[in-house]
Amino acid sequence: MRTVYVNGEYLPETEAKVSIFDRAFLMADGVYEVTSVLGGKLIDFDGHAKRLARSLKELDLKAPCTEDELLAIHRELVARNEVTDGLVYLQVTRGSAGDRDFAFPDPETTEPTLVLFTQNKPGLADNPAAKKGIKVISLEDIRWGRRDIKTVQLLYPSMAKMAAKKAGCDDAWFVEDGKVTEGSSNNAYIVKGGKIITRELSTDILHGITRAAVLRCAKEAQMEVEERSFTIEEAKEADEAFVTSASSFVMPVVELDGAKIGTGTPGPVAARLREIYLDESIKAAV
Ligand code: PMP
Repeated sequence: MRTVYVNGEYLPETEAKVSIFDRAFLMADGVYEVTSVLGGKLIDFDGHAKRLARSLKELDLKAPCTEDELLAIHRELVARNEVTDGLVYLQVTRGSAGDRDFAFPDPETTEPTLVLFTQNKPGLADNPAAKKGIKVISLEDIRWGRRDIKTVQLLYPSMAKMAAKKAGCDDAWFVEDGKVTEGSSNNAYIVKGGKIITRELSTDILHGITRAAVLRCAKEAQMEVEERSFTIEEAKEADEAFVTSASSFVMPVVELDGAKIGTGTPGPVAARLREIYLDESIKAAV
């Protein structure tokens, strides 16, 4: 049985409890992070901790502890659950004021809720999907306007994954005003004439930690990067496409709305970036 963390305690997962009045349960008033674990070490921890701090600040949510304490909790859970390859899920909520009310409770008297748990994913970096590539559909982006904050409001992304599954595909790319914003749980890229194109950072997309690291790798490898939005039509005409996230690293996209991208097989740019990113991030893992 897994050991999980709830508000200062390490407990068997069946004994961990959060109030029914917790604002994440009632209002989706919470933020989260997912950090991958490879070889027992945390990938891009610093980036995830910094983004968490930003999400908390944007929502006027109190930080439950320091970054050093968070790192210690991550490490303790990885050790206790003997995770070699997998994920650490973290969630901070505005806590429970013991009743339901739209107004935020007083942070002096209502402590944030902090929950962490691990997920074992043996062979996470050798996911066979990376060799085959994934198929995506496009869907209208009807999420709220602050997608740069990593909130737990994941109903529409869940619906998008279900729509993709129903269409015999793996995931969805969201489209707003004719341009791709991002994937349902990843950042989206196309490659044309050797150039890597991905939407610029704004409140329209999540500022992916993997995105930042992969773009750094691309620039170090002298690959050309252009940060701008693109259309589904442009993506269909691209040489390659891929997505990035903490749990999938760099994942090739080989089909979009039923049309093959490039040769319909994973392209060399995505493969190279996956290799460089995994290599560099494993070296820097903590
Ligand atoms: N966009 C969205 C909407 C996401 O949910 C995620 C994954 N949490 C990402 C992008 C990728 O972010 P990261 O690389 O930090 O996992």
